Amino acid sequence: MNKPVLELIAIEKSYSKGSENKIEVLKGVNLQLFPGETVALVAPSGAGKSTLLQIAGLLDKPLSGKILISGTEIQNESDNQLTMIRRQEIGFVYQFHHLLPEFSSRENIDLPQLSNGVSPKEAQRRSNELLGLVNLANRSDHRPSELSGGEQQRVAICRALANKPKIILADEPTGNLDQKTTSSVFESLLKIVKQTNLAALIATHNLDLANRMDRVVKLTDGKII
Ligand code: ADP
Repeated sequence: MNKPVLELIAIEKSYSKGSENKIEVLKGVNLQLFPGETVALVAPSGAGKSTLLQIAGLLDKPLSGKILISGTEIQNESDNQLTMIRRQEIGFVYQFHHLLPEFSSRENIDLPQLSNGVSPKEAQRRSNELLGLVNLANRSDHRPSELSGGEQQRVAICRALANKPKIILADEPTGNLDQKTTSSVFESLLKIVKQTNLAALIATHNLDLANRMDRVVKLTDGKII
């Protein structure tokens, strides 16, 4: 049996606005994510999906609980160490592509590699390979404004994969696209996850999409069921 690449154990998180107003968002979340699987995270708006993805992506810290990446506990690491782990192991896809407008598709995918110490030549090779995987080889010199919404989002998926992460975290990655584009962008994402044995946790409101994933988990009353 595979070992989980990401494991969350008894994660708790609350926000307080003054002493009266404490919001307990996560009340003991347990979740395992295995290599090669796509997991849909489904919950009503405000239930804590973004909070959970931020914690899983080491962008925010839980109040308590453990986070294991490939079997190693990391919640007590320094901020610098967490940044390193995040850069190497985790890729993010958001609802809005957040591509840099003054750079081409390929350059947008090169950038995270260059900041990770990869040579420009190798970064370009990898970027072109990724663009080929999502059928955008002929758009590598286009700037984001010269791409359709679906194409922009496919470039954002390539950027998330640039540094060969083990985990992809996506927050409503197709929430901003029409139905047909949603389907093709989503197919690209699923194909890459399978081909590269990644693990993907994808928050979505779209139950059709959720049902195309390997597993659906629901966040209800601060817990995963
Ligand atoms: P979702 O992504 O499921 O819509 P969120 O994780 O964004 O939910 O938010 C969960 C709850 O936590 C909401 O009630 C939200 O208002 C609250 N919340 C989120 N971030 C903060 C914050 N930084 N400070 C205070 N409350 C927050």
